[in-house]
Amino acid sequence: MRAGIVDACRASGRAPEETTLIVVTKFHPASLVAGLSALGVRDVGENRHQEAQAKAAELQDLDLHWHFIGQLQTKKARQAAQYARSIHSIDRDRLVDALSTAEVAEPIDAFIQVNLTNDPGRGGAAPEALEPLAEQILGTSTLRLRGVMAVAPLPEEEAAARAFARLAGYSERLRAIDPEATAISAGMTHDYAEAIAAGATHLRIGSAITGKRPEPR
Ligand SMILES: *Cc1c(COP(=O)(O)O)cnc(C)c1O
Repeated sequence: MRAGIVDACRASGRAPEETTLIVVTKFHPASLVAGLSALGVRDVGENRHQEAQAKAAELQDLDLHWHFIGQLQTKKARQAAQYARSIHSIDRDRLVDALSTAEVAEPIDAFIQVNLTNDPGRGGAAPEALEPLAEQILGTSTLRLRGVMAVAPLPEEEAAARAFARLAGYSERLRAIDPEATAISAGMTHDYAEAIAAGATHLRIGSAITGKRPEPR
């Protein structure tokens, strides 16, 4: 996997050190996450609160950086803030409100998820909500604005490269508000090369590393 990332970085003139590899461990048991940790993995991604909460509790001695990458219910937000050091799926004002009242030792790294499709059911904020959400996050003491996040549309809807080019534009808009919010969380097993070419800084890769996922429970 790392070799593929290094190749993709080289092809687009980027330094591999500019990218953080988050290993997505959803649906896998905590034992698999422990195994990854033993191999040196520090950044892990989960998309369901209950599952993530249980794994983080079981593995709390491992000093892992838990990235929450799935849709987050407002009423679960404060709980997720207890273990997640990064939340990639911030997409509405009520979620920011809830997180603004979380009890955190350090601000949580906040990514605004932008919907790259026209289907509101996919998760992510509409592009026009980007600036208001950014301002709202900057007004909290519990969140540190890091950047944008997106999931590519299905390949038959739109090529990932085109969609990620739009995401790069949203990232630029965000940096106009906060020059430090430079992160772009994009790229999964099948589109990480396109994401790197478009400037991704945080890759969320599951099956290419963990193999096939078990069925969700
Ligand atoms: C599952 C998931 C990933 C990883 O997907 P793979 O195709 O297994 O690499 C990345 N991002 C999100 C939001 C996910 O839910």
